Amino acid sequence: MSDSLTFRDKQVLWHPYTQMKTARDPVGIVRGQGSYLFDEHGKRYIDAVSSWWVNIHGHSHPYIAQKVSEQLLRLEHVIFAGFTHEPAVQLAERLLKILPKNQSKVFYSDNGSTAVEVAIKMAIQFWHNQGIKKEKIIVFENSYHGDTFGAMSVSARSAFTAAFSSYLFDVISIPLPKKEVKEKTISFLKQTLGENKDQIAAFIFEPLVLGAGGMLMYNADTLNSLLEICKDNDVLCIADEVMTGFGRTGKLFACNHLPQEPDIICLSKGLTGGTMALGLTTCSEKIYEAFLSDDRLKTLFHGHSYTANPIACTAGLASLDLLLEENNLKNIDRICAQQTRFAEQLRTIVKIENVRCTGTILAFDIKTNENTSYFNSQRDRLYEYFLSNGIILRPLGNTLYIMPPYCISQTDLEEIYRQILNLFKE
Ligand SMILES: *Cc1c(COP(=O)(O)O)cnc(C)c1O
Repeated sequence: MSDSLTFRDKQVLWHPYTQMKTARDPVGIVRGQGSYLFDEHGKRYIDAVSSWWVNIHGHSHPYIAQKVSEQLLRLEHVIFAGFTHEPAVQLAERLLKILPKNQSKVFYSDNGSTAVEVAIKMAIQFWHNQGIKKEKIIVFENSYHGDTFGAMSVSARSAFTAAFSSYLFDVISIPLPKKEVKEKTISFLKQTLGENKDQIAAFIFEPLVLGAGGMLMYNADTLNSLLEICKDNDVLCIADEVMTGFGRTGKLFACNHLPQEPDIICLSKGLTGGTMALGLTTCSEKIYEAFLSDDRLKTLFHGHSYTANPIACTAGLASLDLLLEENNLKNIDRICAQQTRFAEQLRTIVKIENVRCTGTILAFDIKTNENTSYFNSQRDRLYEYFLSNGIILRPLGNTLYIMPPYCISQTDLEEIYRQILNLFKE
């Protein structure tokens, strides 16, 4: 049909993370409601990946829509250098109340990658402004922090970054502290700090769950030990909570699981409830103060045209209202419990391994003879299977994960489980 969205799309569009020659036709979505999306032929899908991890309260939420539309008629945008406005101020005030206590300032940008870029610049310039030469950054193996060049540099080198490898700055990778290698990671970090004495500016990490790297999980206790070591060695700690923020791990922020507080935190994805693009980077007073000077050269020279867009900030405020509602917090607890129970069931299936669960996120690997990369051949088959059964699940290679919006009903989550179990029926 030449008037279908799918057909018109193919004439003019280029999609993200998509090999346009071989990819299946994109599904034309015309409407969203709660955890459902509806395509142009009227077919309904359960959004089991929260539309790339951003949607936390369901689609087209009437409360967010109402607040955003009121704001649109009041003030749509204003330059954020030299000017300010209520939604930006209020969102910062309210976030700082619920973030780790040491966080004291909010710097707005546009998405997760830019939030990471700002964090890296803050950390490097923090030392530069004090005349201290510390330029190296420690990262986890398999980490993912975004697609801009700085964010790619601190992410794992992979097929995604191969074409650009010579343009990316060097970082030091440490192994992920999974249970069996906890001590190894700790000693590796200590050794790295010893070998690069006084040269390490920062450690950037995804707390508790490494998302795009394959939903790899590790525990809060180990992360806490790593942060203690970093603090003892004057290494700044940057928590990339772009994916884990806003309830994903069962608490409001993954950092709430640890006594140690990071120096810098990156947020985006769930920040606006999945309504609009917005990112932000928060920092402690210590970081902020290193930029205060009569010397203009110590300024943080970073900004985007749409920095602190009032509509996006308003969506953030509305999403925060919904997030903190008692009913929503109960839903988060219910999903955590439901996922944990299903994880137990999955552990009895022989074709599955590495079943893992942190908060509302459940992941497992499907056993395969191929090397377990993103390009694993099972991936497309699984994606098609779920799509044809009205469920959006987007495997990362042979890793399947469920990351639903918090409004998902118990019944819909059970329907996803049922379809997964069907796959492994003998
Ligand atoms: C998605 C993601 C990013 C990048 O965010 P974008 O908004 O896609 O640029 C950065 N860090 C983590 C942990 C992410 O999951």
